[in-house]
Amino acid sequence: MSSQNQPNLRIPGPVPLPDDVLELAGSQMINHRGPEYADMLDRMTKNLKTVFMTKNDAYFITSSGTGAMETAIVNTISPGDKVLSIIIGVFGERFAEIAEAYGGDVTTLNFDLGQAADLDKVRETLKGMNDVKAVIFTHNESSTGVSNPLEELCQVIHEESDALILVDAVSSAGGVPIAVDAWGIDVVATASQKSWISPPGISMVTFSDKAWKAHATSTSPKYYLDVQQYEDYLKIGQPPFTPCLPAMFTLEVALQSMVDEGIENVFARHHEIAQHTRDGAKALGLDLLPDPQYASNTVTAIRLPEGLDGKAFLSEVNKNYNVVLGGGQKSLVGKIFRVGHMGWVETDHIDEALKAAEETLKAMTS
Ligand SMILES: *Cc1c(COP(=O)(O)O)cnc(C)c1O
Repeated sequence: MSSQNQPNLRIPGPVPLPDDVLELAGSQMINHRGPEYADMLDRMTKNLKTVFMTKNDAYFITSSGTGAMETAIVNTISPGDKVLSIIIGVFGERFAEIAEAYGGDVTTLNFDLGQAADLDKVRETLKGMNDVKAVIFTHNESSTGVSNPLEELCQVIHEESDALILVDAVSSAGGVPIAVDAWGIDVVATASQKSWISPPGISMVTFSDKAWKAHATSTSPKYYLDVQQYEDYLKIGQPPFTPCLPAMFTLEVALQSMVDEGIENVFARHHEIAQHTRDGAKALGLDLLPDPQYASNTVTAIRLPEGLDGKAFLSEVNKNYNVVLGGGQKSLVGKIFRVGHMGWVETDHIDEALKAAEETLKAMTS
């Protein structure tokens, strides 16, 4: 357990860290071009591939999750390429903006907030398009607590196109199964501060053979995020640039413990705590924002009663109970609150957060 009096941080990343991980993050620096780092990188790369169930290449990049999303784009897309962007929330919008920033010819397919992508609409849209270079979307939309049906989506995309599949799995990977090879995903992007029980600073990407073929002809400008740099240096057991060592130290331990625990057990644990959170919200008489069928296993989005001051609610919860909940983003500001449950989570953490929400709602509506 974490130290006394620390806030119960229940936002969808950064996740709170247990004391032993905090201590590890404070370790002395090492030579990132020395043998110690090479050993660590080798073990971490193997374990990352195990978690992603892939034989593809996998890289650690010093950046936040958005850097991994940009990595997916700049290495595969050229200006003018057609991109289909499936959007179910703010992170989907961000992915589309990155593709546009690099000159992608982006078509957007939007779904209502709280909904997952509709497979028939995706199929129909792809049937009406030619030469789509890439389909990009969020796996787990942290802003709405919705998980897209990833396997089924990939299947539809493969049936209707030869497009690359680039997935923002920043808030799902490590907590939810992603079978990269079996489902035919070309690039997966994630980041250390989500389910990986680490501080922010390191993002991770997988990169398929098909993505490498696209890389060979991609004319997007790139340097720091060019996967070729990461691949060339991986061969000599080094990072191309100075990495965020504290996050690498904790990630090494997190990856090893996930593999030791068994990834299916890690995923089952996330499912259980998510179900516990959803049941707890229901017991308070509150509704989920998402269609329960697509409710996320890493973050739960809960509707606030109509007319309640959502900002005041969050600050009362924080002030009176030392619990930090996530708010709504953009058009959902004040309408929902979010409870993060990725990484290291105990039922007590969730019960305490829901109790704080319950008491605060009582006080505000009486
Ligand atoms: C956290 C998150 C990101 C990345 O955010 P950064 O602040 O760049 O790390 C991207 N997509 C989703 C779905 C996320 O939850």
